[in-house]
Amino acid sequence: MKTVVWFREVGKDDVPLVGGKGANLGEMARAGFPIPPGFIVTSDAYFYFLKVTGLDKRIYPLLDELDVEDTAKLQETAAQIQRMIVAAEVPGEIEKDIVKAYEELSKKATSHIKPKDIWVAVRSSATAEDLPEASFAGQQATFLYVRGAKSVVEHVKKCWASLFTARAIYYRSKQGFDHRKVGIAVVVQKMVNSEVSGVMFTAHPVDGSPVIIIEAAYGLGEAVVSGMVTPDEYVVDKATLKIKEKKVAKQTKMVVQKPEGGTEEKPVPEELQEKQKLPDDKIVKLAEIGRRIEEHYGHPQDIEWALEHENLYIVQSRAITTIGKTGGGPTTSEEDEPILKGLPASPGVATGKVKIVHDLSDLPKVREGDVLVTTMTTPDMVPAMQRAAAIVTDEGGMTCHAAIVSRELGIPAVVGTGNATKVLKDGDIVTVDAYKGVVYRGKVEKEDVVRKKHVEVIRSALPYPTATLVKVNVALPEAAERAAQTNADGVGLLRAEHMITSTGKHPVWFLKNDKLDDLTEAVKRGIRIGAEKFYPKPVWYRTFDARTDEFRHLQGGEGEPEEDNPMLGWHGIRRSLDQPELIMAEFEAIKQLHEEGLDNVGVMIPFTASVEEYVEAKKLARKVGLIPHKMVDFGIMVETPAAALTIEDYLKARIDFLSFGTNDLTQLTLGVDRNNAHVQRLFNEKHPSVLKLINYVIRKAKKHGVETSICGQAGSDPEMVRKLVRMGIDSVSANIDAVDKIREVVFREERRIMLERARRGI
Ligand code: PEP
Ligand code: MG
Repeated sequence: MKTVVWFREVGKDDVPLVGGKGANLGEMARAGFPIPPGFIVTSDAYFYFLKVTGLDKRIYPLLDELDVEDTAKLQETAAQIQRMIVAAEVPGEIEKDIVKAYEELSKKATSHIKPKDIWVAVRSSATAEDLPEASFAGQQATFLYVRGAKSVVEHVKKCWASLFTARAIYYRSKQGFDHRKVGIAVVVQKMVNSEVSGVMFTAHPVDGSPVIIIEAAYGLGEAVVSGMVTPDEYVVDKATLKIKEKKVAKQTKMVVQKPEGGTEEKPVPEELQEKQKLPDDKIVKLAEIGRRIEEHYGHPQDIEWALEHENLYIVQSRAITTIGKTGGGPTTSEEDEPILKGLPASPGVATGKVKIVHDLSDLPKVREGDVLVTTMTTPDMVPAMQRAAAIVTDEGGMTCHAAIVSRELGIPAVVGTGNATKVLKDGDIVTVDAYKGVVYRGKVEKEDVVRKKHVEVIRSALPYPTATLVKVNVALPEAAERAAQTNADGVGLLRAEHMITSTGKHPVWFLKNDKLDDLTEAVKRGIRIGAEKFYPKPVWYRTFDARTDEFRHLQGGEGEPEEDNPMLGWHGIRRSLDQPELIMAEFEAIKQLHEEGLDNVGVMIPFTASVEEYVEAKKLARKVGLIPHKMVDFGIMVETPAAALTIEDYLKARIDFLSFGTNDLTQLTLGVDRNNAHVQRLFNEKHPSVLKLINYVIRKAKKHGVETSICGQAGSDPEMVRKLVRMGIDSVSANIDAVDKIREVVFREERRIMLERARRGI
């Protein structure tokens, strides 16, 4: 049995023994390419470890009896197996081989007489090449800057353990892979201390034209790969190796090694920031290496490279898989016809690889920088949405889930295209222009200038003092930090849904399993982030309001009724009153937060249509001791015409505030399904009927001295906000990215009103 092999001992046919990454490095080292030296701990070593320690007898039965759909159990089992692997002793003979190889590597890299331990990268190398990448390779661990033989052995073990993350187990099971047959190898390679690094394509990644494209940035390559910095871009003619084009980008920060291991972000010295990163002679040299690697493999390559002490190194090379999938032809230009049209739900422009998400099992294939394409997003998709460069949906309007979350995450989104999931295919390269609401095939050279400019101008402007308060909407608890940076005057809508669903469970699960305390905890955790960040500014927590079709996927959501029209169905306060234990668990959370001193949290009741509902809700709050225990602001969303027209009843029942939910109010007033792409052109919050209702409610509320606000999407629309300011609204709550702009709009409108009055001599 070979437990450890050097790169040069293996080649491209040795995938089962050394994994894809290992085989590739071996192949290149053999061919004489400048690969940082290293060795591979083989998959044989891994299987031997499982056998000698007896772990195989303990791990596989656990997996055999696991129902991977039971998320909690899956996570528990995954964690248990990983703990078992990390806690086990590596058999002496394997440990000896690893230590010996590491010492030899150190000797070669430093001095044979006085060797010093070197820094290495320890990377998992997947052995089952035919497993889809996202379900296997991408999920195993990589550790940079590891030093010392003991530490190397420990990290090898961690790589082995990473074969058993919940995700990896789930996908292997789903795709019918036998856990017993899937092994893993581990690459141990000298770290290149890159002064400059980046990626290189040996052909145009979209149309395959014969150019070599090199991207370069200071520091470690991960800054380029993750999109943290904009790299220089050099285009080299593949035949003549002449540099055809150079785009030098300013770089202010870079990722470098931390002295004690690991990496950190550092500023780039000022004098280097605007310089060309890679000198011309190195660009040509690198392109020449790239061309040879392509010749060696007989296919265009996507290569990671690094420069250390004048030496160029190749860190990784794989075939470019995108060429031709976009229908060939030259790169699309802006004049070209878009292939999809929809609504510009969240501004920005991005190019990326399409990943179609039909169901939740597709989520892990969405990688950093991909374009997530789906019928309609759901809350379980949020982690994948966070990784995406842009989002495109078949369905939905400006107020659908995809639109709300994308805006909050600051990710361009085009919704309601009708058929994106049919027109596009996995791997297509597309450019999403979410200013216009269109999608182009290929990469369209189009900078996201509007967004950048807008942000710069607004940020550098003086703060606008306004009489009308400008608040912010928050849907994802983790967005509270970003929201607080806007200096908003409070949170006008804190959505509950993601706090609860981040547990992976439907609220009903807590009820059925007698775990209401856990529900209270989840809500408390979610609210606390925003309440602390904004304290003492008011934060209005809206009680749970999810439609029955939105959370079916969650554990405990199986029993959700199938409704013909969930928008008009069992949600909001009408449902909460049918399941009082749930809303009482939410109230309990708020009570406990008040007891902790977070007395800025108010309660907002959604989707009410009769005052009795409000009265009932307050009774439940009283039962929990939330009122009159403390002075908690209690208000309603005005989002049904019924609530608007009977607002006086609510005022008499002592609401402390009200907030227009114009998404629903418009839908219900105009009879336009807010998620139905066919009727989106009719969705208009500024329709005279909606404005009439709002104006009526504001006038009545003023008489009672009750604060009026808006938290629907229209609160981020300058034209609507101007109208509302004129009607005398007390506050508007906008999306995170719109707060600054809306504050300026409010400021100017208030000044205009004062000026008009002054001119008229009022
Ligand atoms: C609304 O209806 O305007 C609102 C803010 O609530 P949601 O979008 O959650 O229905
Ligand atoms: Mg609503």
